[in-house]
Amino acid sequence: MTTLGFLARENLDRLLTALRASGYRCVGPMVLDGAIQYCDLPNAQSLPSGCRDSQAPGRYRLDHTDTSRQFAWANGPQAIKPFLFAPRETLWCVERDAREALTFKTVSPESQALAVIGVRACDLAALRLQDAHFLQGLNRDVQYAARREGMFLVAVNCTHPAATCFCVSTGDGPEVPEATGTNAGCDLILDELDDGFILHSASERGASVAGQLELAPVTPEQQTVVAQQRQQARAVQKRSLPARDLRPMLDKRLEHPRWVEVAGRCLSCGNCTSVCPTCFCYSEQEQPLLDGSGSTHARVWDSCFTQGHSYIHGITIRADTRLRYRQWLTHKLAAWHDQYGRSGCVGCGRCISWCPVGIDITEEVAALAASPT
Ligand code: SF4
Ligand code: SF4
Repeated sequence: MTTLGFLARENLDRLLTALRASGYRCVGPMVLDGAIQYCDLPNAQSLPSGCRDSQAPGRYRLDHTDTSRQFAWANGPQAIKPFLFAPRETLWCVERDAREALTFKTVSPESQALAVIGVRACDLAALRLQDAHFLQGLNRDVQYAARREGMFLVAVNCTHPAATCFCVSTGDGPEVPEATGTNAGCDLILDELDDGFILHSASERGASVAGQLELAPVTPEQQTVVAQQRQQARAVQKRSLPARDLRPMLDKRLEHPRWVEVAGRCLSCGNCTSVCPTCFCYSEQEQPLLDGSGSTHARVWDSCFTQGHSYIHGITIRADTRLRYRQWLTHKLAAWHDQYGRSGCVGCGRCISWCPVGIDITEEVAALAASPT
């Protein structure tokens, strides 16, 4: 990672202009339906100026402050997962002609390269996990790969983690780790100050885009403020997981009574898996046309909390909520180590805020770890 210089806030639009000139469609955080969501970003003024998110188990609210900062919030209900692993997409279709002959056609993903502004460190960690699943497994996912190749990522280091965040304990935030700046798969990293941004390049294309901007030298005072706010962002996090590798603890507690207790509260709604930036389960659905002239085959996000997810040859393997919640948590925090070499949780806290009954993964793990097997 190389520090490039300071970009005044009133010049942030120049970054968007440079990205568009390089062929990117720009998306970034905006306030939509009471939450911060990634949308097509018309200009820098559309960023969530002065917004703060207040998050707690089962709670997400936006407050407005008089700060000029545009990234002084933690996260919204989705990371960048939907841009790569679409919630619903047609994979192929089939047409029947007048002679009853069938023609199969692959449906390719849209091709315009995407630049995402405002990505968080935990989102980048989740992206590395999704890359491991969709790109480095036995079956490389062509839809995911096509979108991923063209993606330009502008990360912004977190200055205001939410009360639900625990990325310090998972090792995934709140700042993009400098040592993995390039490996993180992002291109530019920004530190936000009151009057603008310090830019760091994390890839050659990042340096090339930033080279089109007029940057001022970074002052020692600005560097001091950045160091202080990075330290502060770590210090405010109160939630945590007790260890990075929870396999030994969880493996001994597969029949623990806590699974029954949490199942009494869990609605099996699947919100936690929908908002989780690392969950990747999907089902495939056939949608035939009513006149029989064709059909489309779509991939749709699924969840280990649905009844159909574990339906195999006439039997639903995980028939009740106790088994489904246990599957979700033990896969995420234990079995993921065997598959991908680390936990599947990046500490973003989304599953805590967006759970309608406020089930808190850190609280559940702490309760399991604190009691005998
Ligand atoms: S399990 Fe929860 S806290 Fe962990 S990455 Fe998924 S949504 Fe975020
Ligand atoms: S833990 Fe919460 S969000 Fe997840 S399925 Fe249960 S009720 Fe829904």
